[in-house]
Amino acid sequence: MTRTLLAAIKLEKLIPSQSSTIALKPNLVVAAKPEGGATTHPEIVIAIIEYLKERGFHNISIVESAWVGDSTKRAFEVNGYYAISNTYDVPLVDVKDDAYVTRTVQGIPIDLSKTIMETDFLISLPVLKGHCQTAMTCALKNMKGCISERSKRQSHTMGLHKPIAALNAFRSADLVIVDSLNGDLDFEEGGNPVRTDRIFACRDSVLCDTYGASLMGFEAEDIEYIRLAERFGVGTMNLDFANIIFLNEPSEIAPPSLPTGKAIYLNQYIDSRSACSACHGALVHALKRLDEANQLGSRFDRKICVGQDFKTVRDPSRVGVGICTKGLGKSVAGCPPTALAMLEFLKSL
Ligand code: SF4
Repeated sequence: MTRTLLAAIKLEKLIPSQSSTIALKPNLVVAAKPEGGATTHPEIVIAIIEYLKERGFHNISIVESAWVGDSTKRAFEVNGYYAISNTYDVPLVDVKDDAYVTRTVQGIPIDLSKTIMETDFLISLPVLKGHCQTAMTCALKNMKGCISERSKRQSHTMGLHKPIAALNAFRSADLVIVDSLNGDLDFEEGGNPVRTDRIFACRDSVLCDTYGASLMGFEAEDIEYIRLAERFGVGTMNLDFANIIFLNEPSEIAPPSLPTGKAIYLNQYIDSRSACSACHGALVHALKRLDEANQLGSRFDRKICVGQDFKTVRDPSRVGVGICTKGLGKSVAGCPPTALAMLEFLKSL
């Protein structure tokens, strides 16, 4: 998937020159494997390195720091980054050991990794997932792994939103490749992965997070750091400016996998029959948003249908999401619809 995506966006044409320094910034917030929904799949990192090296780009490093209280080196170890570093001759930079460049942006002093500061082309590899304080995290918040522990602590003291936006006004990614394979439902440290089997790329971090919000059932306007980042000139929230190119339809039926954690509770409201994971996962996110608004238990006495086996079902008494359920009494179109479109539909029932 990563190679297909890189070829489609012609990554080699986006980078100034073959001698450019390139930093790959995965999300290794905790020392955990990506199956839990918190961290970037290392296969994506490997595919990018191979793609770049095959095209003559050799000045690549992997730069990251785990959150305060966890070890980046342990996160590198758990996810096989030392082997990646040796195999491809790509240095690992633990931002916790790096030197910093301090600048005051929007009144906030920020210690940014010197390596990131001196990087010509920064490729951010966030996981699209929930967050207990900021609702969601994707491109903008992934930059937090590029600052000192002091700046991280201070950003929490200041409520995260303005510091995240200011950090991106200081330095944001030149390219974002989002790991949206199985991001967590509501915690950045994982534990409740929701499978969606999706990767997407963006140039504008604000537009990226605006789109990512819709995939999780959020209005981007409700997420303060996205709004602030737009105000600070990082990018635009106007999806009308987005040239969204779908490389394929999610026609593959996901192999059955058991939901975990909170997803089990939400799945009791879903009648899933041969559903693509992108559709099923979006419905889980939409139901989560309804649950947060206390509109779930009281509103639904029947299950929401999703999946390709509903293509031939004609039942006016049932409701569903996705084009496959258009034969039901009510359904929302799209293949798949965004979680936000599903949420609006479910609220209208
Ligand atoms: S509507 Fe949903 S289940 Fe049907 S093909 Fe599209 S993504 Fe798959």
